[in-house]
Amino acid sequence: MKKVKVIKIDVDKCNGCRACEAICSAFHAAPKYSSTNPERSRIRVLWDPLKDIYVPVLAGEYTEAECNGRDIYTIDGKVYDECSFCRASCPSRNLFKDPDSDLPLKCDMCEEEPPLPEPLCVQWCLSDALTYEEREEEGEEEEKLEEMEVGLESLIKKHGAKKVMDTVARLAKE
Ligand code: SF4
Ligand code: SF4
Repeated sequence: MKKVKVIKIDVDKCNGCRACEAICSAFHAAPKYSSTNPERSRIRVLWDPLKDIYVPVLAGEYTEAECNGRDIYTIDGKVYDECSFCRASCPSRNLFKDPDSDLPLKCDMCEEEPPLPEPLCVQWCLSDALTYEEREEEGEEEEKLEEMEVGLESLIKKHGAKKVMDTVARLAKE
């Protein structure tokens, strides 16, 4: 059995305070909690106050190509931007990319040892727009390797294979 972790998002309860962005970026800072920078957060709040639209989005998979088509959602009379609900780190926008390395960012559910009782963005969301659930499903636990491969591939694209390999070799010696 594998554990599936779910963050439920209630856009009607989100007030755009962005506390979730602050704590996520602090948790993932190096060293941990040394800085806050929403650009490094794995959750971003897309908002349009004039239309009363606040959409917290958790960073999902990296994709090399942007989509050819887009969707426009109208919910309760509110029209949401074409990419509002998309979780991808993709070339068409600057969301979910580390501002220094350009590496794609992905929500890791605040994995920690020992595990946190709930992901931090959920704990810091005082308006209950984010709530957490766990359930068990048939299947194997996911391998973490895939994420590392995407990160390496993205670095190689940006800096070239030689530079990346030289840096890895240098770091291994330190
Ligand atoms: S902390 Fe909650 S209410 Fe504040 S922006 Fe994030 S999701 Fe919205
Ligand atoms: S679960 Fe953790 S890693 Fe994911 S968006 Fe929330 S704070 Fe960031």
